[in-house]
Amino acid sequence: MDANLLTVQKKESKKNNNMTQQKTIGFGYISPKETCNDKKCPFHGQIKVRGRTFVGTVTSAKFARSITVEWERLKFIPKYERFEKRKTKVKAHNPECINAKEGDIVTIQECKPISKTKHFIVVQKNEQNNA
Ligand SMILES: [Zn+2]
Repeated sequence: MDANLLTVQKKESKKNNNMTQQKTIGFGYISPKETCNDKKCPFHGQIKVRGRTFVGTVTSAKFARSITVEWERLKFIPKYERFEKRKTKVKAHNPECINAKEGDIVTIQECKPISKTKHFIVVQKNEQNNA
């Protein structure tokens, strides 16, 4: 009985996978509602994400499917025994289904190098607290 149940469940899950073209990319990211034909989209394309994850603000979204993300980090200065603020700026791929704009807070994750300066992809648009 138990074995039969298991096989039935397996078959159903396979069917579901075929029905939906979207894939889960892991790490608990929620797939965007919109779809796109972008080859470099982690949800609808071929590319996979791995490595480091950061949360930052979009400072520039002027190029097509690319954005600049910036976030602050603290560096300890031993002489003064205090921290100074430093900024990290990276370029990230902005898939059409996510479409992050300037001022948005986004989560980016590392991927294989897409171009000379791009090796991050936007995986999530974080909700902002306007209040
Ligand atoms: Zn997509």
